[in-house]
Amino acid sequence: MAYDPRPVEPSIYKRWLEAGVFQPRPDAEPYVIVIPPPNVTDVLHVGHALNNTIQDVLIRFERMRGRAAEWLPGTDHAGIATQNVVEKRLKAEGKTRFDLGREAFVQRVWEFVNKTGNTIIEQLKQIGCSCDWTRTRFTLDPEYSRAVREVFVRLWEEQLIYRGHRVIHWCPNCLTALSDEEAEHHETNGNLYHIRYPLADGSGSITVATTRPETLLGDTAVAVNPEDPRGRAFIGKKVRLPIVGIEIPIIADEAVDKEFGTGFVKITPAHDPNDFETGKRHGLEMPLVMTEDGKMGEPGNEKRETGNVRVPADLVGVDRFEARKRIVKQLEKEGLLEKTEPHRHSVRRCYRCDTVVEPRLSDQWFVKMKPLAEPVLAKFRAGEYQIVPERWRATYDHWMENIRDWNISRQIWWGHRIPVFTCTKCAHQWADRVDPQACPKCGGSVEQDPDVLDTWFSSWLWPFATFGWPNETPDLKRFYPGHTLVTAPEILFFWVARMLMSGYHFMGQRLPFTTVYLHGTVRDTKHRKMSKSLGNGIDPLDVVKLFGADALRWTLIAGSSLGADVILDPQDLETTFAPGRNFANKLWNIGQFVLGQLPPQVPALESVDRRALTLADRWILSRAQAVIREATQSLADFRLDEAAKRCFEFVWNELADWYVEAVKPRLKDPASQAVLAYCFDLALRLLHPVVPFITEELWQKLPERKGELLATAQWPAPRAEFDDPRADQEFGRVKTAIEQIRSIRAEYRVTPKTRVRATIVPRGNDKAATFEGERDTIERLAQLERLTFDGAPDGVGAHAVFGDGSEVVVALEGLVDVKTECKRLTEEKERLEKQLTSLAARLTNDSFVSRAPQDVVAKEREKEKAWRDQRDILAGKLKSLGCS
Ligand SMILES: [Zn+2]
Ligand SMILES: [Zn+2]
Repeated sequence: MAYDPRPVEPSIYKRWLEAGVFQPRPDAEPYVIVIPPPNVTDVLHVGHALNNTIQDVLIRFERMRGRAAEWLPGTDHAGIATQNVVEKRLKAEGKTRFDLGREAFVQRVWEFVNKTGNTIIEQLKQIGCSCDWTRTRFTLDPEYSRAVREVFVRLWEEQLIYRGHRVIHWCPNCLTALSDEEAEHHETNGNLYHIRYPLADGSGSITVATTRPETLLGDTAVAVNPEDPRGRAFIGKKVRLPIVGIEIPIIADEAVDKEFGTGFVKITPAHDPNDFETGKRHGLEMPLVMTEDGKMGEPGNEKRETGNVRVPADLVGVDRFEARKRIVKQLEKEGLLEKTEPHRHSVRRCYRCDTVVEPRLSDQWFVKMKPLAEPVLAKFRAGEYQIVPERWRATYDHWMENIRDWNISRQIWWGHRIPVFTCTKCAHQWADRVDPQACPKCGGSVEQDPDVLDTWFSSWLWPFATFGWPNETPDLKRFYPGHTLVTAPEILFFWVARMLMSGYHFMGQRLPFTTVYLHGTVRDTKHRKMSKSLGNGIDPLDVVKLFGADALRWTLIAGSSLGADVILDPQDLETTFAPGRNFANKLWNIGQFVLGQLPPQVPALESVDRRALTLADRWILSRAQAVIREATQSLADFRLDEAAKRCFEFVWNELADWYVEAVKPRLKDPASQAVLAYCFDLALRLLHPVVPFITEELWQKLPERKGELLATAQWPAPRAEFDDPRADQEFGRVKTAIEQIRSIRAEYRVTPKTRVRATIVPRGNDKAATFEGERDTIERLAQLERLTFDGAPDGVGAHAVFGDGSEVVVALEGLVDVKTECKRLTEEKERLEKQLTSLAARLTNDSFVSRAPQDVVAKEREKEKAWRDQRDILAGKLKSLGCS
């Protein structure tokens, strides 16, 4: 009978909500996870499903272990991303945000957010997330905004915020500055253009190489390394800048890379961060030659009809990439293009809209990060918090060690407005916790900075701003610091590192969590990241509809080992999620069977006389203690897949395939019922964090539940009195004997209905008593007519050796056609011997052994050994069948 999760899951979830089980227990030690807040515009994708299922497994595990489990949910206002979505909608109406004006536009975004912002929260419920929904936060909530402003003002007062005039990453599409992290590197095939700059004195030319020839309009010098002999004679001379026609100097600068191109580099201080530094060192002019939207022009110097000082009239307003083509063409025409080479290099793109970022000289607000990072890095090196898996340690350490100041101002409208005010009269500038009416110095009118803060400047406060900081709330006292942070490695620097810094800085040098668990990425079978644009995504809610949330969760958890990528096939949901669905079905069927056996009042394990327990009972009880220990340890070590697989093995194999089969004739026996009930209850508890719905549903059906919920039931503790190594060993031998007989039956194609005779000859530590005591079990599970212990049966038989050299012989007389079997086995043996002869010849050939790579030779030797073993097995079979 197949399990149908569809009616079960929503009603179970409702029950959990009504019982308030997701809220932390009032009087226990807390265990806290804060959710990586999804963007308020997000709809659930499979990456969210993985991230949140991992968190849910951990929080459910700790909840059952008796902790006050607080999984704090919420959403991020996602400045640029959300603004982009609303701007796109406006565009469809033929409008821009500037047509609406700031206030009306922000209003419009709020309307959008209020209407759709809850989507992802509702979707998280469908996959079973047990977040504390009573504490759901949004990064633009009034209280949260107060925390953001408080942090800004405090950093201002500590002089860790400053106005920087420098080249930053600019997105010409989003029309805002970006941080280093938001301007992502992409390896790109471009060109390296070698351009001749004629010397002003007419004595020839020098050549510079660039990937962005359009920026030459903004060149104010050519630089050469003073150590470079090729350039020495030219230092101090002037060149005539192509296209523009003005003269610029050749300067010496030690920062110039002698290995790049010709050794001469063009210096464009307003459009390249390194050139900006060079420009500062040499006091060069820094003209912009592009407008904010990535078109050629000279902001502040716009005379469109005549062109400007630097940008010719026919290039004004032309897009930068079109301008590149035209300039290259013009250079070619004038004989100034020496050559064009294909060139692979890194180009930065906006992480929100994928537009190529333009380096641009601009005034922005920055946070000095070194003082924030240093103590947090020291704590990391001292082992006070950990990053798993370990391979991220070096990357993190390096980034923290080389941390750069953080550009926090964005030229957009959706977000936390920067609380910096300037007096229009006396120019006094300050940061304020409340909006001031007038200048405190002269009473003049004030203007607020027009920009908003980087979204990450609010989310970096998530572990404490969500609990009411800066107020000393009871929640803050109880839930800070938290414990585990689960996220994708992509936001290690955007978010995780900064949370560690803000937590340490603002929360009394207490870090917000002790473990950062970085999980893998969900990819398709070609190992491509799943994305909307590639069309290779999987909608987790489709999976929930088809197979249930448990099947989705099972596949994600069992399929992802610590930090490794999860591979799913979007073309074949059926096969991809079959393991999860099959497991749910199996568990359901075992459950139906177990429930069918149990009386309304199951005897407690404690009340059972230990002497009434059979070997199988003692064995499964001992295995149960092992699975408790192993699953608990795996979950505590974040090896979620191992925990899931170990529980699977226990339920499917040890409990269902062996124990239940072994005790079937004794199921009316109270001892067996007590053992069965204990083991099944235990399995449901251990599996609950991974597959919460089906386990809760089955658990509710167990006798004597009295309204308790599995979600808050106790995590099982191992009971040492049931550890039984002897039972493990003895039942282990019985299992092996049965498996040996089964494999002989399969080998000789004995039909399942046919009962056969078999003999076991125990040797070494294998005692006859062990097998004799389980004669009935062995006979039943191996479909034997009779099991004896008195030597090999007469006539034809197949034998196998196991354990300490014990032997099992299965009588095959009259069951197999001996002649045909002998022929088949003889042919197989002959084939193997031929292969062995030629392999042996190769391996004794000196020229092969000495010339072939060592690992090839080693592989051949391994092969030889495997074939020999196979041949010996065949020889044994031929002998036991009596073939001549
Ligand atoms: Zn952008
Ligand atoms: Zn003033």
